[in-house]
Amino acid sequence: MSDEHSFEELRTQVEAWVEGPGERWAERIEETGEVPEALWAELNERGFLRMAAPVAYGGHGLPFSRWMELMEVFSRSHGSIRMIVHVVNGIWRAMDGHATEEQRKRFVLPSITGEIKIAFTLTEPGNGTGADITTSVVREGDTYYLSGSKHLITFGVRCDYYLLAARVEGSTGHEGTVALLVPRHAPGVTVEDTSQTMGVTGTDHASLSFERTPVPVDHRLGAEGEGLDVFLGGFLTPSRISVAMSCVGLAERAQQLAVAYARDRVTFGKALTQRQAIQFMLAENAADIEAAKQLVLHAARRFEQGAEDASLQSSMAKMHAVTMLTHVTDKALQIHGGLGYWKSQKIERVYRDARAQRFEEGTNEVQKAVVFREVLRRTPPVAAPEAGR
Ligand SMILES: Cc1cc2nc3c(=O)[nH]c(=O)nc-3n(C[C@H](O)[C@H](O)[C@H](O)COP(=O)(O)OP(=O)(O)OC[C@H]3O[C@@H](n4cnc5c(N)ncnc54)[C@H](O)[C@@H]3O)c2cc1C
Repeated sequence: MSDEHSFEELRTQVEAWVEGPGERWAERIEETGEVPEALWAELNERGFLRMAAPVAYGGHGLPFSRWMELMEVFSRSHGSIRMIVHVVNGIWRAMDGHATEEQRKRFVLPSITGEIKIAFTLTEPGNGTGADITTSVVREGDTYYLSGSKHLITFGVRCDYYLLAARVEGSTGHEGTVALLVPRHAPGVTVEDTSQTMGVTGTDHASLSFERTPVPVDHRLGAEGEGLDVFLGGFLTPSRISVAMSCVGLAERAQQLAVAYARDRVTFGKALTQRQAIQFMLAENAADIEAAKQLVLHAARRFEQGAEDASLQSSMAKMHAVTMLTHVTDKALQIHGGLGYWKSQKIERVYRDARAQRFEEGTNEVQKAVVFREVLRRTPPVAAPEAGR
């Protein structure tokens, strides 16, 4: 059987799951406000959480751009399902590039097989994300003592480990930053459940505080000073592309719901699909989604090729896809009329879930700063006209 044939089979399998069991899970999550462990187990059993990991690690080993084609399908589903699939299929990559063989066995492989859950723990309440972090460690022998706080941490309640960014006390900037795997139940860890969010219902989030929490030094990935590389280095490019593809998939779902509604809804004797104003909205949405999708796939291929501009492409793709998603979901809700504002309508959840995408893997303000820096670096100076001409 050809690779292409088995990929198409896999895509059909994922589509069938998203449209069938995935939709039933979505309804249950919205009703109960919770993502049960049984959903994690089902995603894991079906192999949906190890699609992108190498075969040698127990994954499907899909090339990144092919994996993104499946991410597009998963993203048509509930925001919490998308969140689990996106995070678990990606977090091994952040750790793997810096892990020793022993750490790979203890943390990376079990995260791929679903034996342990890891929360990406970077954002802090008191300062900017990145070199501004203040959560710090003091080393005593083979142990770091961790103090500080984090917030907005996805899976922060139910995880087994925090993949956490801190700095050696007294250091500044990137220097002295460390990436640690902190056990969820270590002494001195306080977890406040902050799961009540606008959308992405059921995903657990937490605010965390650490008071001289002991963390063995062999739980550190990479060297002292490489901490932020784990969070913001090679991992960020594929992760941004995955978030950008999540926007494409969710926009497709919004468009599907809008077309279906416009077909059925009759006002003044005509279906909405017969009104030019509505036709224009749906046509603009279709073109915007396709443009974003092609840009995201281009970024994915550049990453796969190890191209020098892959990081720039990932920021441009994310910037563009997030803006597209905002416009598409807004128009899709508008087409539903006032009823679209009601929880009884599927578009209401899609609209709320979409808003979260504007924060994940950096806001558009941050993407624009990255893109602008590259524009300046790559644009050659224009020769000044000679005097007197
Ligand atoms: C649903 C959800 C899940 C999340 N999960 C996680 C997680 O698992 N782990 C984790 O670590 N974080 C997580 N976050 C946090 C997320 O990564 C941050 O919200 C995001 O990076 C923005 O940082 P901030 O909230 O601190 O905003 P701030 O830095 O306070 O920014 C506020 C506003 O100012 C703008 N701004 C800030 N600095 C600048 C600047 N230098 N120049 C121009 N504009 C600027 C921002 O773009 C934004 O509009 C999650 C957030 C959401 C919404």
